[in-house]
Amino acid sequence: MDFKKIKCFVLDMDGTIYLGNELFDFTLPFLQKVTDTGRKYYFFTNNSSKSQAAYIEKLARLGINIEPEQMMISSHVMIKFLQENHPGKKLLVMGTDSLLAEFRRFDMPLISEGETPDIVIIGFDTQLTYEKLCKTCDYVRHGAIYYGINPDWNCPVEGGEFIPDCGSMAKLIEASTGRFPEFFGKPSRHTLDYIIKTTGVKPEEIAIVGDRLYTDIAVAANSDVNSILVLSGESTLEDVEKSPVKPTIVLPSLASITELL
Ligand SMILES: [Mg+2]
Repeated sequence: MDFKKIKCFVLDMDGTIYLGNELFDFTLPFLQKVTDTGRKYYFFTNNSSKSQAAYIEKLARLGINIEPEQMMISSHVMIKFLQENHPGKKLLVMGTDSLLAEFRRFDMPLISEGETPDIVIIGFDTQLTYEKLCKTCDYVRHGAIYYGINPDWNCPVEGGEFIPDCGSMAKLIEASTGRFPEFFGKPSRHTLDYIIKTTGVKPEEIAIVGDRLYTDIAVAANSDVNSILVLSGESTLEDVEKSPVKPTIVLPSLASITELL
């Protein structure tokens, strides 16, 4: 790929710019080089359990100060889609308090007690209760439009362990209702469209950088957007060989991109 053409980078977070709470030592020099060469950078997280503000704060703690528009999050892809395609429809959101607050911040019509939703949305609900699960299954079973925010099966946590993410919760609901939702985070086309719109540049001028083939790299598949797989996180070269989804280029880490700019 031709780095001269790239005007902006859309970066995954865990495994790409940091691991857990440890920023990679090459991340700040990379971001500096991006800025110094007149380019822009954005972050995109699929994690729908936290608010955009929580991520902006986390980045600030790590020494990265950004404008809100530079922090893209899967829940905003969902909200934007609902605003454009289902204005005014009543929503039941199975999610954390932070996710519900994010929906309220955009004046999304969440149902109140006793109301029936037109649309059921599930997020990565780390505060999931059996009661919430039953209510969600009820409306899904009775035919509400049904969407999921991020399709990840697991979310990595400290110590190399994993916790079940939104995709796994969708599987549980599928076992009960027979329905599986359409998803909106990476690697959906909705996310790619959202990235192209937000960055405001041509698809071929965007490079999406991430450590996971089936989300970060797959989102750019069959489009003119470039994808860079970094080997600082989950995927290995062996995974690339076996994968039907191929990145535009594979590099050890962001440090290699810094040298190419
Ligand atoms: Mg990652």
